[in-house]
Amino acid sequence: MSQLTLKKDVFLAALTRQWHCFGLSSAKEMTQHQWWEAVSAALAEQLSAQPQPTKRADVKRHVNYISMEFLIGRLTGNNLINLGWYDTVAGALAEFDINLSDLLEQEVDPALGNGGLGRLAACFLDSMATVDQPAIGYGLNYQYGLFRQSFSGGKQHESPDDWHRESYPWFRHNAALAVDVGVGGKVEKRADGSEHWRPDFMLRGEAWDLPVVGYRNGVTQPLRLWQATHQHPFNLEKFNDGDFLHAEQQGIDAAKLTKVLYPNDNHQQGKRLRLMQQYFQCACSVADILRRHHLAGRKLAELPDYEVIQLNDTHPTIAIPEMLRILLDEHQMSWGDAWAITSRTFAYTNHTLMPEALECWDETLVRSLLPRHFSIIKQINANFKKLVDKQWPGDKDVWAKLAVHHNKQVRMANLCVVAGFAVNGVAALHSDLVVKDLFPEYHQLWPEKFHNVTNGITPRRWLKQCNPALSSLIDDTLKTEWVTKLDALKDLESYADDADFRKKYQQIKYDNKVKLAAYVHEVMGITLNPDAIFDVQIKRLHEYKRQHLTLLQIVSLYQQLRANPDFDMVPRVFLFGAKAAPGYYLAKNIIYAINQVAEKINNDPLVADRIKVVFIPDYRVSVAELMIPAADVSEQISTAGKEASGTGNMKLALNGALTVGTLDGANVEIAEQVGEDNIFIFGNTVEQVKALKAKGYDPLAWKKKDKRLKAVLDELASGFYSNGDKEAFSMLLNSLQEGGDPYLVLADFAAYGEAQKKVDVLYRDRDEWTRKAILNTARVGMFSSDRSIRDYQQRIWQVKR
Ligand SMILES: *Cc1c(COP(=O)(O)O)cnc(C)c1O
Repeated sequence: MSQLTLKKDVFLAALTRQWHCFGLSSAKEMTQHQWWEAVSAALAEQLSAQPQPTKRADVKRHVNYISMEFLIGRLTGNNLINLGWYDTVAGALAEFDINLSDLLEQEVDPALGNGGLGRLAACFLDSMATVDQPAIGYGLNYQYGLFRQSFSGGKQHESPDDWHRESYPWFRHNAALAVDVGVGGKVEKRADGSEHWRPDFMLRGEAWDLPVVGYRNGVTQPLRLWQATHQHPFNLEKFNDGDFLHAEQQGIDAAKLTKVLYPNDNHQQGKRLRLMQQYFQCACSVADILRRHHLAGRKLAELPDYEVIQLNDTHPTIAIPEMLRILLDEHQMSWGDAWAITSRTFAYTNHTLMPEALECWDETLVRSLLPRHFSIIKQINANFKKLVDKQWPGDKDVWAKLAVHHNKQVRMANLCVVAGFAVNGVAALHSDLVVKDLFPEYHQLWPEKFHNVTNGITPRRWLKQCNPALSSLIDDTLKTEWVTKLDALKDLESYADDADFRKKYQQIKYDNKVKLAAYVHEVMGITLNPDAIFDVQIKRLHEYKRQHLTLLQIVSLYQQLRANPDFDMVPRVFLFGAKAAPGYYLAKNIIYAINQVAEKINNDPLVADRIKVVFIPDYRVSVAELMIPAADVSEQISTAGKEASGTGNMKLALNGALTVGTLDGANVEIAEQVGEDNIFIFGNTVEQVKALKAKGYDPLAWKKKDKRLKAVLDELASGFYSNGDKEAFSMLLNSLQEGGDPYLVLADFAAYGEAQKKVDVLYRDRDEWTRKAILNTARVGMFSSDRSIRDYQQRIWQVKR
């Protein structure tokens, strides 16, 4: 496949058309933001004018990647890099005295996701386009993305994230693809016993496409985001029938449906509007898949030969009964035929073992919104019960665990496992726990369904784009195309011992730290010392991720400094970035505690800049792109067994940060790849965590036997960091003590402190530190999402036709 070309004069002509659109007579009248808009729109126009590659030899199944979230980040810069048009455009703009990289800062992040799960979906789209895996991403076009975060008196404040989807230049609205979706109503029984759904009212889904550009291979595939509107044209007859009034009475305002992204990460809420969003997305996507299949002149029975539907977690599970409904009710298929097609089409990716994140829906809710789907789910359940009864005759406990519908609840993960042909976890350890702890009986029934596909990250955004200096150094050193073959970085290993290379690598890290420091100064007014260790912890705020373990460590260090003013330590900047779900009060209390401790330490002259604590507000993809290249240390300290994979860990290691981490998620594989000498592994393992809990874990006993830990907890409770308010952090402190410390923070405190001491010692030997950093970059090639996609192809998507 060949690269797409852009001629400068053609681009300039397109750009001129844009400022004419703004009603301006010359480029000079444009604001910086209009420049960004004009450049992006001109590029989008040029991209869509490119000849589509001749129909690809479709040896591969087409992938339909359905995800409630796509955390794509800014597109203009990324598309320029993937298209190979960056230099042409930078050159053209230079003639107007416009600096392209400054201009790209104008773009508001499309934050249509919460965290790792949404970002994974974005990396996978990039990789599928790049490895030429035919694919389409299906999601929702939220008007408001993840909330914007600011701090007021140290507390998180949320405001709506209006990213102006209506004027986002990369969108293409495809009116011909609109889908009508029913909701509510009744199921009617026909004379022949078949069932038919009579919805109460209809919504319309409009298709808004964003281009996903493969890396310099001429491939562009859509990310299709559905946006809800009222049915058009306005149906007067139905209005007079009271149909619309009825809808209003039910509290259904179509346009509200895709207004907001739910801000929860690893936590389900069971809200009616959320189920509506899920169904709306799935109904639109399944209709679109079947439309394309029919258009290609293929039979329904062939669907699984040509299409696979990959469910990113259980959020789009309702697509399964929706597919069955269409085959049964609209195509009059038998249950057996409809089931044979459906059960060979869907594959499910599990992202968590934590019970609070496993989706369950009240049957009353499902029945009232989706009565026909509920009846299909009961049929699936009844059929499955026969199989379970045969395998475990009379075993009520097993059925209570495996049922899809039980105790007036519909369990989405169970539905996925029963109705899908493949289930995968997202890192080796996690996939192992999926089989052993979450779904052992299912595994007994269908061992061949279970797989591992370790997550990955796209090297385009997470090295080439975010760290241009390191990318150039790698280009100059290796002289091979590593961007699409990340394993090629292995050849950097020998340069770890090359003093000249180390110096260049070190200088790049230093320059990236200076750049991050400038940003921190600009947004927070805090001055950072680039010679300090930049210790970075960026991820959603969650108890299981244990940002509060670092907080305890920081307080402990501060106490040691005060006890001994000559305390010898390498200056360290603790940098945090994290949003807490607005209703997750404990997470918000942790943010508050970190900010209050920061306030005290940053302003204590005795500390003399040896410790700085910086909580950067509004963590998002564009901030990650700034922080990751500047990190010396990567904090990946979740309680073993809780983090399914993590992908931040991969981005940071690729950019030469050394990991301080537990044996959890993909940290296990990162440690294997980089070698135990080049990572700081600490803390209780999955087995040790289980053993501690089995024995009856008592955090207060751990506090009692560790003087340092006791001093830290007592000082946090003393009001010392909160102007005398002894209750300021009581939610956090209660959870860690009387609350039983569910994530074993206290049990890992001492080991974490030891690991941090080793970091301090090693950093004093800058050559040795840099050597290890280089080995990290060199050895994490397997965490390219290109490799993840090839694993999906080989293990799950490929079928012999
Ligand atoms: C990669 C990424 C994440 C995931 O981070 P984890 O440490 O794996 O939880 C979350 N948010 C953003 C913006 C990211 O880029």
